[in-house]
Amino acid sequence: MEILARAYPGAGTALNFNNPFELLVAAILSAQCTDQQVNRITGPLFKKYRTPRDFAALSPEELAEEIKGCGLYRNKSKYIVEASRKILEHYGGQVPRTREELQTLPGVGRKTAGVVLGVAYGGSALPVDTHVYRVARRLGLSGARVPEKVEKDLVKCFAPHQAMDAHHRLIAHGRATCTARKPACGGCCLKELCLYSEQEGEPS
Ligand code: SF4
Repeated sequence: MEILARAYPGAGTALNFNNPFELLVAAILSAQCTDQQVNRITGPLFKKYRTPRDFAALSPEELAEEIKGCGLYRNKSKYIVEASRKILEHYGGQVPRTREELQTLPGVGRKTAGVVLGVAYGGSALPVDTHVYRVARRLGLSGARVPEKVEKDLVKCFAPHQAMDAHHRLIAHGRATCTARKPACGGCCLKELCLYSEQEGEPS
């Protein structure tokens, strides 16, 4: 964590948002879509529609038109409209604060719930996305092959108050150095600690 903190001092979410609801919408949009592309979409979107009530009043088709620069936009528009309606009907118009409640919202799985908990509410969460999964396995912090199990292994490695920082720093490292196709092991700040070998590939 100290090495990564020095390497990526500003690591944090790249999604733009002003409140937990906007973060929820941005996080749903971010599946299989870059954060930069999500920000391009949410910039104008959040000027037109701001609250769960605004989004709940849209049809999925109307919202799809607004977000069609994003992969899987038809499914995502359905999720966002349905999640907004559920937030209004079941949670008094507020994005819920527990993982269990968050995961009752359409389009919200374990990873998205963790992002909202950790980033919007300052809770302890260590969401495992594709970068966290890859880097954690290469480093030898987990040998598991499903994100939920990798998360379980990772939360044992970090103090609860460090979990979200670990999430952001592992993502930063996965983007900058430990990339999927060609990790830059020669210049990597973690190479002395890492189990990955360029000759042998991924740890089993
Ligand atoms: S040494 Fe290579 S595989 Fe290990 S963390 Fe660094 S870039 Fe990734």
